[in-house]
Amino acid sequence: MPNYVVGHKIPDSDSICSAIALSYLKTTLGEETVPARLGELSPETLFILDKFGFEQPELKMSYAGESLYIVDHSERTQGPDDIDDATILGIIDHHKLGDITTSTPLEIWVRPVGCTNTIIKMMYDFHNVEIPKNIAGAMMCAILSDTVVFKSPTCTTADIKCVEALAEIAGIEDPQALGMEMFKVKSAVEGTPVRDLVLRDFKDFDMNGKLVGIGQLEVIDLAIFDDMKADLEADIAALKAEGNRHSVILLLTDIMKEGSEMLVVSDNADLTEKAYGKATVDGKVWLDGVLSRKKQVVPPLQESLA
Ligand code: MG
Ligand code: MG
Ligand code: MG
Repeated sequence: MPNYVVGHKIPDSDSICSAIALSYLKTTLGEETVPARLGELSPETLFILDKFGFEQPELKMSYAGESLYIVDHSERTQGPDDIDDATILGIIDHHKLGDITTSTPLEIWVRPVGCTNTIIKMMYDFHNVEIPKNIAGAMMCAILSDTVVFKSPTCTTADIKCVEALAEIAGIEDPQALGMEMFKVKSAVEGTPVRDLVLRDFKDFDMNGKLVGIGQLEVIDLAIFDDMKADLEADIAALKAEGNRHSVILLLTDIMKEGSEMLVVSDNADLTEKAYGKATVDGKVWLDGVLSRKKQVVPPLQESLA
């Protein structure tokens, strides 16, 4: 029985490319490991897999009785539902340490860098394993995605150096141009059902007993949402009404203007005032300079909900 590598629910490019890159490394080191996913892929991730010639990893939701590596998160709400019945062999991640725990010793690589694939590159270097050209390309694209082509405050010099090294292996002359091409694919939201957009990059967080769902759409021009903003607002209100969330937030991030408009539906009317010092007007607020959910959105919110 092989081991698995799986990222978070509603997988993004980092979760998928990490699963592919880590399973190749582990298999090369003599431990048969296969990549898996916990959901459907975004247009951006499909673009990357197509560009470098990869099949989609296996869709696998249940891991009872299996052994697996967790990548790109360490939160119970974001992992497989039956994670308690699986053996966790390791966690490779770049988010705040979550609440996944184990009954046996495990391998942990957690670093405050911009992308899980930057850490996996460190693992390849540590084990002195050569990265195949197509895997290097996919890893590079994941780093460009997670760091918003180096603009995100989560981006470190390690991420930039890593992209340079991977671009050389993959034979990509202008990685930043490829990054912008990727964000153009990501910005094509027209014709997509509203609920699909809300959930395209959506994560639930347990914030001191309160369930908070935060979605993010990163685009190159916020104007593309002009005609659909009212529908997006109505849909996050519907999503909140359907479940047991304390708050549902949708970040509309403009990667060129470098800021985010936050659409908010919450049990707390003063949620953003308390967390970010800026009140919503009609359920919306513009937060200048905010690009990163993990670094700029989650921590103040978690603190304000304590
Ligand atoms: Mg991710
Ligand atoms: Mg990531
Ligand atoms: Mg992201």
